[in-house]
Order: sequence, then structure tokens, then C-alpha cells
Amino acid sequence: MPGSNAVPKEATKKPKSMPKKQLVHFEKRLLEERKRVIKELGHHGDTFGPNGESDDDTSAYSFHMADQGTDAMEREKAFLFASQEGRFLWHIDQALRRLYKTPETFGKCHQCTLDIAFERLDALPHARYCIACKQREEDSKRA
Ligand SMILES: [Zn+2]
Repeated sequence: MPGSNAVPKEATKKPKSMPKKQLVHFEKRLLEERKRVIKELGHHGDTFGPNGESDDDTSAYSFHMADQGTDAMEREKAFLFASQEGRFLWHIDQALRRLYKTPETFGKCHQCTLDIAFERLDALPHARYCIACKQREEDSKRA
């Protein structure tokens, strides 16, 4: 019989997810960002979480829009801001979905599949591209 310390073949084939400790860290970062964005949007989203734990601490939130008497410009500004936040929220949800369902793809660049730098993910936990690919994308947009 060959040595027992051989690495199982499957382990080398399967894409490896980042250490559990880091996944937990980014889950926390994403949930924090999510909470903040939802608060800014002023409404409830779905609650994510493998345990289905509910988070009801925003239920006390109330609208004060009606007595603010905003003019058209303010409303337009608010709308643009809301849509930007809405997009941001969508990206956060996508990242959480990846983290829960396919943790091996979380933190990997969608373009070149390399690991996204920890510093970049920490600043932008919903990032889908590494810095190099993101830069390329921005350049192609400008061209
Ligand atoms: Zn990349």
C-alpha cells in the first residue's frame, strides 16, 4: 500500500473556498453594509441567513417624508440616490448568495477566477472582479 499521507485527488480538483474565518468576516461585512443600505432606502428587504434568523430591529423605523415638503429637485436627487443605493443593495445580496451557496466562488474574480485581494474585498465585500479586471473593464468603457 502507498503512503497514507497522499492528498486525496478530489481536493486538488475542487475549487477551494477561502478559510472559514475569512468567509465569516466577509459575511459580517456584507450584512453590515446591507443593514446600512436598507436603512438608507427606508424599507425592509428579505432576511438572509443560513439559520433563517429574523432581524426585526428596523420595524420601529418610520417615514417622515410627508412633512418634509420636498421640491421637484430634491425629489429627483432623492430618486437618483435611491436607485444607486438600490443597485448597491442588489450587489450585496448577490455576494451574500454566493457566500452561502457557492462559497468556493466567493472572493474569486468572475473574469479571470483568481483570488481578489483581501484588502479590496474588505473595502468592497461585494466586489466581483479583481483590480486588474476591473481596471480593464473601466478602460473599455472609456474607449
Ligand atoms: Zn480578474
